[in-house]
Amino acid sequence: MAASSKKIFTASRLPRNTGTSGWVAMLPTRRAGLRLQGHITSDVVIIGGGFAGLSAARRIHELDPGLKVAVLEADVVGEAAAGRNSGFIIDLPHEVSSDDYGGDSAARSKEAIVISRTAIALASAIAAEQGWSKDVFDPCGRYSVAISDEGDHHLTAYADQLGKLGEKHQLLSAREIAEVTGTRSYTSALFTPGTVMVQPAAYIRGVADSLVDPVTVYEQTPAVQFESTGAGWLVKTPEGSISTGRIVLANNGHAESFGFFKGQVLHIFTFASMTHEFDPARLSGHRKWAATPALPMGTTVRRVPGQNGDRILVRSRYTYHPGLVTGDGTLRRAGAQHDRKFKARFPTLTDIPMEYRWAGAMAVTWNSVPAFGEIEKGVFAACGCNGVGASKATASGIAAAELMLGHNSRLTEIYKRFDAPKSLPPQPLTTIGAKANLAFREWMAGAE
Ligand SMILES: Cc1cc2nc3c(=O)[nH]c(=O)nc-3n(C[C@H](O)[C@H](O)[C@H](O)COP(=O)(O)OP(=O)(O)OC[C@H]3O[C@@H](n4cnc5c(N)ncnc54)[C@H](O)[C@@H]3O)c2cc1C
Repeated sequence: MAASSKKIFTASRLPRNTGTSGWVAMLPTRRAGLRLQGHITSDVVIIGGGFAGLSAARRIHELDPGLKVAVLEADVVGEAAAGRNSGFIIDLPHEVSSDDYGGDSAARSKEAIVISRTAIALASAIAAEQGWSKDVFDPCGRYSVAISDEGDHHLTAYADQLGKLGEKHQLLSAREIAEVTGTRSYTSALFTPGTVMVQPAAYIRGVADSLVDPVTVYEQTPAVQFESTGAGWLVKTPEGSISTGRIVLANNGHAESFGFFKGQVLHIFTFASMTHEFDPARLSGHRKWAATPALPMGTTVRRVPGQNGDRILVRSRYTYHPGLVTGDGTLRRAGAQHDRKFKARFPTLTDIPMEYRWAGAMAVTWNSVPAFGEIEKGVFAACGCNGVGASKATASGIAAAELMLGHNSRLTEIYKRFDAPKSLPPQPLTTIGAKANLAFREWMAGAE
């Protein structure tokens, strides 16, 4: 390739995580992983060690165990969003809301279910192979909980649509969900059995550690640049470089930091707080349950049992940060909201303070499609998680691996049909629009 046609992609910024993830803090400190030093060659380089990147590595190894794969993770595995989420690997679309449910809408929901269940199948196979306990990986299902008339109505409509899709579900009255959660705050609930609950930091570390030679994960090794060479690509890191034929870009919103999907991805952050341990006798109900809100912008709550007591996790609030970083002030404000939500739901536990608070980044596209596909010759994107990356980014990683290796499946069929992400309006309209939209939707979610 002539020097003039050389393509160079340089990271304009690297990820920075805000706050301390309770999930990471609950685990032993991670032994420092391998850092890339010097020059190596590899058949494939994967940039990003989250759900998408590690799942891509797993799938590549399944399809062709002889391929040498290097996964580059900028931080320590588990510190970014994949290790700091609420731990729901959800099998059903969040919303299947259309009054006249059928036709295209039902077909789209069925495809969304194929995507999620393909991800869950991969995760379940790893869990079985590694012999993980239910503290790490628990196929226990989830509750969607309502706290208002509007939430109740939404759950009933959702249950109706699940019935039409032939999906198992069970509506619970206020008394029945109180028996599970130990709080009378919820007005109704809907149980669906297919969600897997994970300790996200333990899960993502476990997936990384399940990868075997010739797949290697390099931690604290950001990709800072990649450039085309006659034969493929040269990926540069602070202390080394890799010559490779193919790249999987699995760094979610940070694909834009390399110049890809510019103006097509909204960088939305969400936040979580986790209490100190408390005596389990102080809250009746089950010691372990997980609930997402009836309305999408509402509050997720999880009770997590431990040897020294139980903890409650509260996740809520969405903010937009085009620079892909959020600060301590935003985290503090989200934390104040978590405290209010916690006190409203658990009036008998108001003396239990939060011990950990954290933020994490998600990449959302206007038309809810992944930022996916072969974006340069030999460079495959598995980005744009659209907020539920435990399933969607895992599936994107699998699909990118299959596309790259020419393996056809139901999943690749679906992914090949996705539209490209729609362009967002020019700045500052996107910022104004995104902030107004998030504020309005949070206001609509009300107490939920
Ligand atoms: C508080 C919170 C709760 C959430 N709850 C849920 C939930 O319950 N269920 C769910 O499905 N989703 C949830 N999410 C969203 C979910 O975490 C994301 O959708 C998911 O992590 C996206 O996965 P990913 O692999 O695409 O990206 P990420 O998990 O962000 O992984 C990308 C990785 O790329 C790395 N990286 C970036 N740039 C570079 C570079 N230049 N070189 C090398 N590495 C790089 C990053 O460090 C990161 O580890 C939640 C998110 C948050 C913040």
